[in-house]
Amino acid sequence: MADVVLKNVRKSFGRARVIHGVDLDVKDGEFLVFVGPSGCGKSTLLRLIAGLEDITSGDLFIGGQRVNDLAPAKRGIAMVFQSYALYPHMSVYDNMAFGLELAKSSKAQIDAKVREAARMLQIENLLDRKPRQLSGGQRQRVAIGRAIVRDPKVFLFDEPLSNLDAALRVQTRIEIAKLHTDTRATMIYVTHDQVEAMTLADRIVVLNAGRIEQVGTPLELYHRPANLFVAGFLGSPQ
Ligand code: ADP
Ligand code: MG
Repeated sequence: MADVVLKNVRKSFGRARVIHGVDLDVKDGEFLVFVGPSGCGKSTLLRLIAGLEDITSGDLFIGGQRVNDLAPAKRGIAMVFQSYALYPHMSVYDNMAFGLELAKSSKAQIDAKVREAARMLQIENLLDRKPRQLSGGQRQRVAIGRAIVRDPKVFLFDEPLSNLDAALRVQTRIEIAKLHTDTRATMIYVTHDQVEAMTLADRIVVLNAGRIEQVGTPLELYHRPANLFVAGFLGSPQ
């Protein structure tokens, strides 16, 4: 488990500054949710934490260690994307086992982990299928399973439910909440859905154009929004 600390983190793409100096202290075991309009920098912040993009300036600490220059695979993080990103030619089992094979775990260890994650996500009967033989909801479970088997200290979720229909969204949201309860891992979760944010978050971070507008519990933001932007964002449907 680990805390995640950002100190004056900035990110530019060429001359375009996208993240303008973010300070944030995500507590060990916390469920933190980023909300904000499209293009405000939510995915970029996750990608900086995961190490998929380089930080332009500032410092990032995970579990007390400065990780600006640490390879993504060494950060103890697993990321779940909106678009699943499964390998189409591999079975569900192999998709989930793949990262562990790279980490040189033993066959027995890999098998135990894959089956345990499959049990948690109720996809044990799908392990031999290919991604194209799965529904969207099942694919997203496999993507979550692939994250779980790595026992990450930190889970990053980038709008994981947005491709699912309404009923599956609710069900998968409940499973993600249970995953948090079971693992007590730190979770950083991006959504543009207020209900998801309000129900999942210990704290919500409201982003606007690469800056933090407000950080607080769902109730704090709902009852005491710092400004009209926050009030408008959490108060009215998208
Ligand atoms: P969000 O996830 O909140 O919708 P993003 O983090 O994807 O926003 O994008 C924030 C801003 O950074 C946008 O203006 C986007 O166009 C820009 N951006 C993101 N990735 C890149 C990139 N690789 N190169 C150039 N600009 C990018
Ligand atoms: Mg995004």
